[in-house]
Amino acid sequence: MADEFDVVVIGAGPAGYPAAIRAAQNGLTVACIDEWQNRDGSPAFGGTCLNAGCIPSKALLESTELFHRAQTEFTAHGISTKSLSMDIAAMQKRKGSIVRGMTGGIAALFKAAGVQGLHGHGRLLPGQRVELTARDGSRRELAARHVVLAPGSVPMELRSAPFDGQRIVDSWGALDLEAVPKRLGVIGAGVIGLELGSVWRRVGAEVVVLEALPDFLAMADQQLATEALRHLRRQGLDIRLGSRVDGATIQGEAVAVSYTDAAGAAQSLTVDRLVVAIGRRPYTKDLLAEGTGVELDERGCIRVDGQCRTGAGSVWAVGDCVRGPMLAHKGKEEGVMVADLIAGRYAEVNYRTIPSVIYTAPEIAWVGQTEEQVKAGGRPYKVGSFPFAASGRARAMEAGIGFAKLIAARDDDEILGVHIVGPFAGELIAEAVLAMEYSASSEDLQRTIHAHPTLSEALHEAALAADKRAIDMPNR
Ligand code: FAD
Ligand code: NAD
Repeated sequence: MADEFDVVVIGAGPAGYPAAIRAAQNGLTVACIDEWQNRDGSPAFGGTCLNAGCIPSKALLESTELFHRAQTEFTAHGISTKSLSMDIAAMQKRKGSIVRGMTGGIAALFKAAGVQGLHGHGRLLPGQRVELTARDGSRRELAARHVVLAPGSVPMELRSAPFDGQRIVDSWGALDLEAVPKRLGVIGAGVIGLELGSVWRRVGAEVVVLEALPDFLAMADQQLATEALRHLRRQGLDIRLGSRVDGATIQGEAVAVSYTDAAGAAQSLTVDRLVVAIGRRPYTKDLLAEGTGVELDERGCIRVDGQCRTGAGSVWAVGDCVRGPMLAHKGKEEGVMVADLIAGRYAEVNYRTIPSVIYTAPEIAWVGQTEEQVKAGGRPYKVGSFPFAASGRARAMEAGIGFAKLIAARDDDEILGVHIVGPFAGELIAEAVLAMEYSASSEDLQRTIHAHPTLSEALHEAALAADKRAIDMPNR
């Protein structure tokens, strides 16, 4: 006889584990299945985000930024650092212990919430049944009133530059390098390329980033992208736009990369390691048995409606495996929404206010529409921006670079988008997200008291600048 649950979740990444915990909070019986195995073969909950994504990348970004700042900024503070060195093994050990602590934390959260965390492979069978293949190969069937699919995504491979796990690696491989490569090639100036390129650049690698598109961060506000590109290039990231990689071959200890540059000319590049970061694709291998009724779209995403229903019985799908940005916080909100909907509660995800953050230095963050999108939409708008160079707090932090930019509608003053490049942009954007969640106007932000001296004043002044009422800079 099948084990019975109200809810079975397949996948314990940032979309699946919150769905499981919220469902248990709602008084339902829940099992959450995950097959993740770390390099040493040990199972772990937390998915890509905790094991090989958000958390380890931020650990390395923090370590290397501290090193970089010690090299470049400390003397301005009067701190002398005569001999400074970076112990990569210690840095990686620290990252590993953070990951272990966080993934162990999910197991503890499951226990506290009463979720049955199960290690193994989950496969959806017709009729809301799930086949669980445990790590020892044994099989068991679970029956559920609702099934939530949260299998996540995996890196895309470039057929002409296949991963070998040593010289040509994906983002997980790039997080785990044991030594600083002298020459590092990165394919793709997307979020992963910029974050991991920054990590290894800061500790001395010569980093070349090849990006096929002619525009830098094409999905971002282009004023923001231009400012970010200037700073990243100044840090020594050799970002080559309009450069489409045609292939790469391993030649002894090196990798030879061939690409077509912006002028259409054939180019080559030799590096010691190559990171392929050209996007991720939904992971649905062996997930769906015949006859479940769950459909995939042309991009391989599980097809869902606005509330993450697949349309096949009581089967739902959330996170990277469905349409929308591949972001941990987007998956989390979908997971929580679905668990509340299952319990008959009201829930929704506001897809218009999902923030994006790139954790480079300076950080790049935005929410809502870019100026290009607002312009194309035809609604009259106004823009206010404020440079961090005019922020007392940023100057005191030796971080007076970048700006905060706010776009509001001319008719009713509604905030349409906020774009920040500068110190702690990823933290500052939260205020804009909240403002937009409540349909705030730029005047609402103008009338909100911001503590002095804080970086948050930059957003306050940007809102004032939208009406040419900034105090701490001349209005134009
Ligand atoms: P995943 O995290 O991929 O989890 C899915 C889980 O399901 C995995 O554990 C997998 O093993 C398991 N699974 C799959 N199929 C089965 C099956 N059939 N049976 C059992 N288990 C299964 N996003 C951010 O928002 N901020 C960041 O800073 C950020 N940094 C990133 C850095 C890197 C290097 C990478 C690669 C990604 C980063 N992301 C970041 C993206 C983020 O990691 C993903 O958006 C997020 O992990 C998606 O969550 P998910 O739960 O949908 O999928
Ligand atoms: P991405 O889509 O952000 O960037 C991939 C880039 O590779 C694109 O700019 C694309 O034009 C380029 N490209 C594709 N083929 C190419 C070729 N042949 N030659 C040269 N360039 C090529 O994808 P990613 O950086 O791999 O990240 C994957 C996902 O992970 C993203 O959706 C992102 O949201 C998520 N992620 C988020 C964060 C964060 O939130 N801070 C961090 C890392 C990853």
